[in-house]
Amino acid sequence: MRNHKLLFLITLGYFMLGLVNIHLTLAGLLCMGLPFVLLFRTRRKTWCQGLCPRASLFSFWGSVRPGEGRRVPGIFRGPDLRFVVLGYFGLNLLFVLLSTVAVGTGRIASMEYIRLLMVFAFPGPLPSLLPWSPGIPWLTHLAYRVYSLMLTSTLVGLGLAWIWRSRTWCLICPVGNLSQRLSKQWK
Ligand code: SF4
Repeated sequence: MRNHKLLFLITLGYFMLGLVNIHLTLAGLLCMGLPFVLLFRTRRKTWCQGLCPRASLFSFWGSVRPGEGRRVPGIFRGPDLRFVVLGYFGLNLLFVLLSTVAVGTGRIASMEYIRLLMVFAFPGPLPSLLPWSPGIPWLTHLAYRVYSLMLTSTLVGLGLAWIWRSRTWCLICPVGNLSQRLSKQWK
């Protein structure tokens, strides 16, 4: 099954939501959970095989890139890089969880800015078309962290798609990797 060509609009729409109101980007949690819900229900990588908006964006990006795209280096097909990327994003998720708890319990201030790759921080909050806030600092913090995580993986994927093949990211994607492991175990 191939991803629908226009699914990439959902990914673009998601990042636009961040400019409407950062709290709306908590919908990204759905995107993280849905592949596994479908996996548990169907015992197949249903999400990766036809529903992933991000893969659709990479395919679209690859189609507008000049040239064919270079052959993907072997390291992307081996287990080591997959393991590193899985560990990195696992660590990132752990940081999101722990820092959200720390904000909720008043131990640290809410980080209301975008941070890419857990290191590169953008100064200040995103501009907001609807600058409404529920007044719950940990929720705002969580929204920024989820948005940062989604933006990081999408930008890395777009970079890889530009240099090599459109869906190079899929070879090392933590969601795809975990889904693969789980579906193999069930078989
Ligand atoms: S491997 Fe990752 S990016 Fe690729 S289709 Fe699956 S979830 Fe989407």
